[in-house]
Amino acid sequence: MVDAAPPAPESAWEYAPAPESREIVSIAPGYGLFINGEFTPAADGKHFTTLNPATEEPLAEVAEAGERDVDRAVAAARTAFERTWGPMPGTDRAKYLYRIARAIQERAREFAVLESLDNGKPIKESRDVDVPLAAAHFFYHAGWADKLEHAGFGPQPRPLGVAGQVIPWNFPLLMAAWKLAPALAAGNTCVLKPAETTPLTALLLAEVIQQAGLPPGTVNILTGDGATGQALVSHPGVDKIAFTGSTEVGKEILRAVAGTGRKLTLELGGKAANVVFDDAPLDQAVEGIVNGIFFNQGHVCCAGSRLLVQESVADMVLDRLKRRLGTLRLGDPLDKNTDIGAINSRQQLDKIEQLTAAGEAEGAQRWSPPCLLPTAGYWFPPTVFSGVSQSHRIAREEIFGPVLSVLTFRTPEEAVAKANNTPYGLSAGVWTDKGSRILWMTQRLRAGVVWANTYNRFDPASPFGGYRESGFGREGGRHGLAAYIDG
Ligand code: NDP
Repeated sequence: MVDAAPPAPESAWEYAPAPESREIVSIAPGYGLFINGEFTPAADGKHFTTLNPATEEPLAEVAEAGERDVDRAVAAARTAFERTWGPMPGTDRAKYLYRIARAIQERAREFAVLESLDNGKPIKESRDVDVPLAAAHFFYHAGWADKLEHAGFGPQPRPLGVAGQVIPWNFPLLMAAWKLAPALAAGNTCVLKPAETTPLTALLLAEVIQQAGLPPGTVNILTGDGATGQALVSHPGVDKIAFTGSTEVGKEILRAVAGTGRKLTLELGGKAANVVFDDAPLDQAVEGIVNGIFFNQGHVCCAGSRLLVQESVADMVLDRLKRRLGTLRLGDPLDKNTDIGAINSRQQLDKIEQLTAAGEAEGAQRWSPPCLLPTAGYWFPPTVFSGVSQSHRIAREEIFGPVLSVLTFRTPEEAVAKANNTPYGLSAGVWTDKGSRILWMTQRLRAGVVWANTYNRFDPASPFGGYRESGFGREGGRHGLAAYIDG
């Protein structure tokens, strides 16, 4: 007689906590504005508190820039443009950009921990995505700085002047790199405004910029809220405006800039379709769906927030997806095991709760894996809505949270029609075994970026941007540089 195999243990394998130490980073009690190469208090002495969204613990007091500070920063950027950075040969600008890239690499752990503390994103994302990509953007653009004459911009490409740049809270350091690196490579000087809830890594970047010895005034960093952003984008001394954020604010900026002759690029919201055909490698597709919407708590403009799945495999995909979501770990952003971190602010959590309540009220079926939410801080469980119809708000509005709306289709034509049924046009994903179908789909999807059998892939050499309500202009690659060159 053979003994029966022992029964499988009932409890799942538990992960022991693996918290990253926060000792690597020293957060000062207060921070000034970075103007003309120095940290300085706001002219009217105003400041605000930045919080850790995972605990609601205050991290630091940060200066709030007003109109006089914007004047000072723009004047410093103008002087640097005319006297030092603007006239500097590209070969020298390249060296400074390399130095910044190297310093970000050397201080990578510090940046990653600080980003996770101030933003709430899991350390494995800040460590493996945000910080290395930020360094890569500076490396990539350092390579362009001395080659602009050969890049098809004419024999003597000229920078635009002073760039006013406003960024959001979802990728604070990375968005700063996306804005600063191409502007500086092309010979512009910058005034950058980080988001109110996530100013700390931009201020650490200011330290790196000091460390790299950039001429004073080349980069100025003004912390503050929407009013600071508004004062910057409407300042007459700014020659070029680059904005990433909500479509609503983007439209406001567009109205303010219209007729002034100043250059503008807008990278706004999205409601991307992630389209899964029945011949797709389904396990890979499930990983792509998870990465598409649950990466960075869904705080991603190009998030695959609408899953369009072919009806014949819809039940199977949904089952596998639910099983996979049951394995995601939500909790302490500094724990290296964590997959889903905190929602960035109370305001954003309210918006997610409001829209998900609307989804239920309109008749979609809501599902989340069993998941204990921490008692302090801002948290939302990974959530899937099935039975979603195109008219539901959760299928039309950008939720900007870990919430997936599932719709089905029968034919490729129907998939295209549904994917394009949105005022946005930033990104899309296609999962299929057939190369010809990928090409057929990409020709028809109205989106600035289409990923095939992958999702949320970023590279500094690859232009990123949208059209329609997702904005205009490109960031990254040669196209991104063009936005900072006159002509
Ligand atoms: P906003 O568009 O308000 O913020 C983006 C940046 O613009 C921030 O630095 C903000 O400052 C600044 N800002 C706000 N008002 C103005 C203004 N009138 N003129 C110039 N700059 C301004 O986004 P929110 O943070 O309020 O998020 C709201 C919604 O927008 C989210 O729920 C999400 O749906 C969407 N969003 C989309 C993003 C994307 O990448 N596509 C990124 C962020 C949000 P401050 O934050 O300090 O107020």
